[in-house]
Amino acid sequence: MIRIHKPTKPPKRLIEKGKPKTRGMKSAYTRNHMAYNIGERTFQFESSIYGHKSVKGALDTAQHGKCCFCESKVKPTAHGDVEHFRPKGGYRQTADQQLERPGYYWLAYDWPNLYFSCQICNQSYKKNLFPLLDPTTRARNHHHDEAEEDAIFIDPGLEDPETHITFRAEFAFGKTNRGKETIEFLGLNRPVLVGARREALQQWQMLKYVLDSDSAGLETEGIEELVRSKLQPDAQYSAMFRAYLNG
Ligand SMILES: [Zn+2]
Repeated sequence: MIRIHKPTKPPKRLIEKGKPKTRGMKSAYTRNHMAYNIGERTFQFESSIYGHKSVKGALDTAQHGKCCFCESKVKPTAHGDVEHFRPKGGYRQTADQQLERPGYYWLAYDWPNLYFSCQICNQSYKKNLFPLLDPTTRARNHHHDEAEEDAIFIDPGLEDPETHITFRAEFAFGKTNRGKETIEFLGLNRPVLVGARREALQQWQMLKYVLDSDSAGLETEGIEELVRSKLQPDAQYSAMFRAYLNG
């Protein structure tokens, strides 16, 4: 995970279509909160708003085409998901806990709550999970302030994940408890991901070796640029390469 800088202005679609929908949901909840709390009534969310190509495109650009959690490039093999950091329709504190309603409905079309993610991180790991260090701080409806929550997951739009998560070679390693829990919950050391990072790291180490060995007569300018490019935010697994250099 790396820090993500989204444009401060939300895409027009969220303002023009999302805002009125959010207002509608808030008043529906206020009128009938018990029915929503027990799941007798549920909100319908429109993916044509939060998942609109203008929204997805803006996230994709801000994130350099990479998943907000695992830093894999998404587009070559999949469409990717618009992921709700705080789950819109219901949440779980732990994977085996039942779904708690109504979820963070008031953030369904909220720009800071949206990220671009790969389907594996979103659909196989994060799903409806949103654990808190202290569940009593949970914002249960729009009258509460979600910024007051003691969240476990690191919000890459607000804080720098690299202060919580580093890498030892190709393995993600928690520097803080929140970092450790985030790695665990999101499967950031799942074998297929570790394998992809290992391959990328080995190739990079080889280039670095050629560069550092200062082989006479070799044109190293291009190699140097390639080595440096892996540290940039648009490179796949850039946090791992930076940790390797700093370690
Ligand atoms: Zn991912």
